[in-house]
Amino acid sequence: MKKTIIDAGHGGEDPGAVSEKLREKDLTLKIALYTEEHLKNNYEVEVKMTRRNDVFVSLNERARIANRFKADLFVSIHINSSINGTGFESFIYTDTGEQTLQFQKILHKEIEAALVAEGTFKNRGLKTANYFVLRKTNMPAILTENLFIDLDAEYLSSESFLKNIGVAHARGIAKCLNLQEKI
Ligand SMILES: [Zn+2]
Repeated sequence: MKKTIIDAGHGGEDPGAVSEKLREKDLTLKIALYTEEHLKNNYEVEVKMTRRNDVFVSLNERARIANRFKADLFVSIHINSSINGTGFESFIYTDTGEQTLQFQKILHKEIEAALVAEGTFKNRGLKTANYFVLRKTNMPAILTENLFIDLDAEYLSSESFLKNIGVAHARGIAKCLNLQEKI
């Protein structure tokens, strides 16, 4: 059976991006849990989470969990920060194969479609970066930056919005790994 790792960014003593009312670590965990739920309910797949509650997990440990599990795909979920920023973007490692780029395209498109359905938003595009979890994981790895904690706070405060983004991640992962639907 195919295996995927869902990585909820930050946690515990590391809140990630923060605004007046929101903390990145809470939002990434919610999206990640919705992703896991939708995958488990609908597809034949083994899912592992790097965290399932508000605990600190080092970047090193996140990569180690993924490598030990021998996942087919690693997806790290984040919320962006920048006072004036808005929109969605995704990242893969700067020096990676064609397979990872294909997966990024599939996942990006799926999340983009969910965001368009929610209202207007800025598509910031498919990007590359030398991020630790992308570099240190042995399998195709994608990091999503799901809107911005300040300007996009209204969307991010909605539970149904977070669920839709989680479901979109699950659908994208299912397409990447060609998962069989549960009967
Ligand atoms: Zn982050």
